[in-house]
Amino acid sequence: MICNKCKKDVMATIHDLCIECHDDIPRDPIVESVIAKYQKRSEEGMIKYGVTMMRDDLSTIDWLNHLQEELMDATLYLERLRVKLESIEVSKDDELATFSRSLLEDLHFKLSEEGYFEQLNNDDNE
Ligand SMILES: [Zn+2]
Repeated sequence: MICNKCKKDVMATIHDLCIECHDDIPRDPIVESVIAKYQKRSEEGMIKYGVTMMRDDLSTIDWLNHLQEELMDATLYLERLRVKLESIEVSKDDELATFSRSLLEDLHFKLSEEGYFEQLNNDDNE
């Protein structure tokens, strides 16, 4: 596709303009927030360990072990929060607990869809 403004051949256009030529595409604040966290974590990891995710000293089994351990830890965090929300639920604040639990379930679903949990526990595993 050819961008109407810069005339470059690009993979995709939005209203005939490439992404660089658009200055009015709204940014999703949640996505921006997560990107900023990834960036900060990456910088901290580089300072602490001095290697990028392109490191080649880990085998496929090593990577799978890291992933499995992090997912196991994620289910523990989930259970801990679930227990907390259930204790709120049996107290007076039923409506808040229901609301919080549905938020947590939505969040968990979205995070697991996006493979986010491997980010949760890197510090414990390295
Ligand atoms: Zn363009």
